[in-house]
Amino acid sequence: MDEFSIIDNFFKSIEKNRSGLVLTGIGDDAAVLNVPKGHELLVSTDTLVGSVHFLLDWPAEVIAYRALATNVSDIVAMAGTPTWCSLALTLPELNEVWLIRFSKGFANALEKFNIDLIGGDITRGPLTISITIHGIAPIGKAVKRSGAKVGDVIFTTGSLGEGAYAVSKLKSAPYHSKVFTKLFFPEPRCAYSPLLRLFANSAIDISDGLSSDLSHILKASGVGAILYEDNLPLSEVLKDKIPKLHQTEFILDSGDEYELCFTVPKNKKVDFLKKINDNDMCCYEIGEITESHSFLLKQSNHQMTPIKRNGFKHF
Ligand code: ADP
Ligand code: MG
Repeated sequence: MDEFSIIDNFFKSIEKNRSGLVLTGIGDDAAVLNVPKGHELLVSTDTLVGSVHFLLDWPAEVIAYRALATNVSDIVAMAGTPTWCSLALTLPELNEVWLIRFSKGFANALEKFNIDLIGGDITRGPLTISITIHGIAPIGKAVKRSGAKVGDVIFTTGSLGEGAYAVSKLKSAPYHSKVFTKLFFPEPRCAYSPLLRLFANSAIDISDGLSSDLSHILKASGVGAILYEDNLPLSEVLKDKIPKLHQTEFILDSGDEYELCFTVPKNKKVDFLKKINDNDMCCYEIGEITESHSFLLKQSNHQMTPIKRNGFKHF
């Protein structure tokens, strides 16, 4: 089997045109795509390197799902709708069983997120998956990191901690254990995109850890923040697993969450929460944007302490 039969057997075979926007897909020198009138194109690339971002013995379906889900999360964090992606795959060898499982997992994820695969590349080398995802948003409606304003209320779409907890258990728990659900099958918060477009001044997805990711918003927006320790949402299943003393730090530093962190102007908060309620959705109010450039934690005893940014760093 050569690279062309790999493309035909495993990737051309899972091609669909769900968006109706793909004019030319897999097989030509480039894909040709239609951006619907009144929309802007959002583009993001994420690369997952074997033994760095995932372990080589993870199930191929998990690697495929996670690769696409984390890319989807980037488009959602801009308040966009993901539309299509390309897949650059670097493989150490031709392992047909692995490829069958990978492409099946990838096809399922494409279906789940309603995305088209429009092309890619296959090369030989250490296992690496690089996805470029595109999405659309109505003109001017993409939500950026740079839009936070003094007085904004800071929210997350979910509780935190399970990402870091799963990573800590990789050597000791079997992969089918429930502990790994959030790490292996992250759920990008697609349903929140329309609400972000209506209400949010700024947004980011939590991949490296709340403290690190929120500080990107603060830097890009030239503002500071106070987080309320009492409101920081630790995942329910971790309450008896993480000692009380370490819970705050755990929430602030846990990566691989793919929850959204976003800010809403104070005067829109009531309408926003009503929409959340009406749609049976969930979110946690965790703090406020401040004028000073400091990033502080208001502790249970009302004392303020600086927050350290301890999220994942590549270098
Ligand atoms: P080129 O030599 O022009 O770069 P390739 O042989 O790399 O073309 O790819 C042929 C076609 O197959 C292109 O349309 C490319 O986008 C597509 N393709 C290559 N690898 C993949 C992949 N992993 N998934 C989907 N499409 C792919
Ligand atoms: Mg090529």
